[in-house]
Amino acid sequence: MRRLPIFFVIDVSESMAGNLPDVDKCLQMILGELNSDPYALETAFISTIVFAGRAEVLNGLQEVYTLSVPKLPLGGGTDYGEAFSCLMREIDRNVVKSSRDQKGDWKPLIFFFTDGNPTSTSYKSVFRKWNSSYAKNANVIGISLAAKLDYSILGMVTEQLFLIDSVDQETIRGLAKWVSVSIKTTSVAIGDGKNFSDSDAIPGDNETVHRINLKKDNAGGENNVISGNDVKVIIGKCSKTRRRYIQLFAREDGSYREKGCYVMPDEEMYDKLTSVDNSGDTIDTALITGDMSSCPHCQNPVILTHCSCGRVFCSDPERAERVFGGIKLTCPWCGSEGCYGGGNFGVGTGLG
Ligand SMILES: [Zn+2]
Ligand SMILES: [Zn+2]
Repeated sequence: MRRLPIFFVIDVSESMAGNLPDVDKCLQMILGELNSDPYALETAFISTIVFAGRAEVLNGLQEVYTLSVPKLPLGGGTDYGEAFSCLMREIDRNVVKSSRDQKGDWKPLIFFFTDGNPTSTSYKSVFRKWNSSYAKNANVIGISLAAKLDYSILGMVTEQLFLIDSVDQETIRGLAKWVSVSIKTTSVAIGDGKNFSDSDAIPGDNETVHRINLKKDNAGGENNVISGNDVKVIIGKCSKTRRRYIQLFAREDGSYREKGCYVMPDEEMYDKLTSVDNSGDTIDTALITGDMSSCPHCQNPVILTHCSCGRVFCSDPERAERVFGGIKLTCPWCGSEGCYGGGNFGVGTGLG
């Protein structure tokens, strides 16, 4: 039987931290839909690839009914080049090509989800390779979870780019439906042996998913570019559990406001998915305004305690041991004990 290979290629860069549960749910719903569709059950095989600064295969091509959605990790960076290199390797390795003796798999459907522009330019050469050797035999559908994306970049590898404007329950449900319909339509067309053209497979836009007219919206790509500085990420460590957290900041009129602080889902995977040259974000703490979360691990009230090693951790100034001139804390990153000024605590006041 000829299989319909489907690849979900999912951006799990840090800025996705707040949206991960929704994306997880979206994948669950897609699988649920496909599991109730006889055509999809028969033909669809799904692989999940995640990428940040690097890419990892969470599961190779697998029949729908045997697949349970893996928990999504996070990583640092957004490297489209790594994502597509990994995708090409997986296609080479797992998609059966047609030959004189056998009919191979159907053209793979690739759903590429991203919420940000690439932080590396490696995509340029990788996209060239994709276009010269793979593009003819695959169907890429780009789905942007961020309004301010440079469409011209994904426009190099797909004409089918869709935008969802917000990530909330309602939208996620709509997106899951839309993706399932794309897959079902393709499976049905294949099952019926109809003369089937790719463009039939992908439904047009609806309330949730908006097709981007690349020819028109592409003009003046600069306008669509989110400046790299709009979202800043700080990785902190809980001083009680020694586990890491991810704090996100959004730029607002020259200052930064916290968008949330989240438990890092899988630290080992985070390190695998983060590129070595990910220089890490620095943020001028004097520019931070507004309230901040407490530690997502232990609820300590301060999460931006600075150590002279350059890292931040959580603390509770009220409960810390008092010493002359401040309080005594131990940095969970470097292990050094230091005296911290108690006054304007937490933001850049560490004396190490
Ligand atoms: Zn903590
Ligand atoms: Zn330290």
